Amino acid sequence: MRHLGFSNEKLKIGSFDFTCCEGCQLQLANRESTLPAFLELLDIRNFREISSERHDDYDIALVEGSISREDEIERLKTIRKNAKILIAYGSCACFGGVNSLKNRIPTQEAVREVYGEHRVDTMPVRKINDVVKVDFSIPGCPVSKEEVERIVVSIATGSMTGLPKYPVCVECKQRLNTCLFDLGEICLGPITRAGCDAVCTSGKTACLGCRGPADDINFLSFMQLVADKGLSHEELEEKLGFYNCFEAFRNDEN
Ligand code: SF4
Ligand code: SF4
Ligand code: SF4
Repeated sequence: MRHLGFSNEKLKIGSFDFTCCEGCQLQLANRESTLPAFLELLDIRNFREISSERHDDYDIALVEGSISREDEIERLKTIRKNAKILIAYGSCACFGGVNSLKNRIPTQEAVREVYGEHRVDTMPVRKINDVVKVDFSIPGCPVSKEEVERIVVSIATGSMTGLPKYPVCVECKQRLNTCLFDLGEICLGPITRAGCDAVCTSGKTACLGCRGPADDINFLSFMQLVADKGLSHEELEEKLGFYNCFEAFRNDEN
């Protein structure tokens, strides 16, 4: 069986981190119940959390983190050149993630606030596809381990897969949760892509939109909902900007 130009022999895989907390890679490495079966399917060429092997030939590169230094650009371009398929995984890689909060103030001001006069090599944060072509994106902060495994396995076996198109509200309702809007909170569930099983709202924490926009969202109607409920526009803006996932909508609609 062939898919995207390579055969269904053991899939050579590399996982690489850029500016991030490495939580997404750890999610994969921590999944003990399915990790042996998952690894059985793969030839790990580079994945420092789980192997000391280091090779530059891989079919799939899983890329975690955003780009915030010049040297990361060169390293990312090399990874892109070596890989047949490049998957950006995690909100940092897909959208810039929490790292992008830095972009709201001048870079030198941000550096001074955190590092004082210590010299730091940094620049405004960019998502992975601002720098190289991305073949597939898996959002989340952190990613859902089940989803990454499903997508990697589907590529290995040549089957088709994708992300849910509907919003988090669908999964939230399936779990019979009380809507947080009814409790006076702003929740980004109506505009955020599902696939996390509404993990936050099931724990009574409002969705912060880490998986980015669902397909065909009605952003204006969502803004109206927040206004009709008398909730704070300032808080809404803060939530929309947290993972840098909704910038396109905010710029278009505001
Ligand atoms: S997306 Fe979240 S969990 Fe993943 S690397 Fe970035 S900050 Fe860490
Ligand atoms: S709590 Fe959030 S995700 Fe759940 S139904 Fe309400 S708006 Fe949707
Ligand atoms: S509920 Fe929202 S913030 Fe929480 S994991 Fe799901 S998409 Fe991310």
